[in-house]
Amino acid sequence: MKLEARSRIQDQDQKDIKYMKAAIAQARKAYKLGEVPIGCVIVYEDKIIGRGYNRRNTDKTPLAHAEITAIKKAGKFMQDWRLEGCKLYVTLEPCQMCAGAIVQARIPEVIMAAENPKAGCAGSVMDILNNPDFNHQVSVKKGVLQEECSKMLKEFFLELRNRNKLLKEKKGS
Ligand SMILES: [Zn+2]
Repeated sequence: MKLEARSRIQDQDQKDIKYMKAAIAQARKAYKLGEVPIGCVIVYEDKIIGRGYNRRNTDKTPLAHAEITAIKKAGKFMQDWRLEGCKLYVTLEPCQMCAGAIVQARIPEVIMAAENPKAGCAGSVMDILNNPDFNHQVSVKKGVLQEECSKMLKEFFLELRNRNKLLKEKKGS
């Protein structure tokens, strides 16, 4: 590979890390609310135009996933439901609803951190983002800051289990 091409790829990798960190900052907001920590940002021309984090319990709706909130905000910014030319960064592999919304929004590229073997629709359970039968396919980059995001999720669920255990013990005594 030519040196110039290689440095371009490295530049992009650095940018992906930077924006994934912004998505992680969103996930931490969810964590603070006691929500499963998932965060998302949408980037257009090197600028964040939509942010979101999971608020499913807070807002009492399954629609309050990080990606849906970020897509809504990005649409407002673009003044268009089509998010052509945008990149979506998310800390966990999108579910069927969010993967569907990503295809609907014609987002060309998704960069994700951790895979979700139980619910992910970027190849884990099924691949909605890359189905040749749909009218739009999304290019997917996996594993950016995967360890950091997996660790955050594991910590969250461990705390949740410990909290629930304590509650049970209190009720029992
Ligand atoms: Zn989702």
